[in-house]
Amino acid sequence: MTTETLDLCVDYPLFVNTDTITSFVPSVGPGWVPLVREMLDELRVMTQDYPTQPHFTDIKEKFGKLDAHTDVGNEEIYDLFDKYNEISEHVCALCGNYSDRNTEGYELCQPICRSCING
Ligand SMILES: [Zn+2]
Repeated sequence: MTTETLDLCVDYPLFVNTDTITSFVPSVGPGWVPLVREMLDELRVMTQDYPTQPHFTDIKEKFGKLDAHTDVGNEEIYDLFDKYNEISEHVCALCGNYSDRNTEGYELCQPICRSCING
């Protein structure tokens, strides 16, 4: 299995303040990297005519879901983040499969599918 890497400073420099940082790697599992890319691609199309681009301050997993924050935002952007927040609930953070998630006990908030947990 190859692990896809994502550094916003390299792949989406418009969405980070490259004056102050040189690397921005979302802290999510490898299974979510394609999902994050999809969100960023959609955001890029959405904001192409914006006078200023939103800069990400955080992209992480929180309570088992994708959690993204930018320095400026509006309803359109927040709706997009909400959409991917909901999609991520059904995507395994390890293998990226759209699947049933373990919803029992301790693992309740872990965005990991049953096959990954059971090995
Ligand atoms: Zn999995």
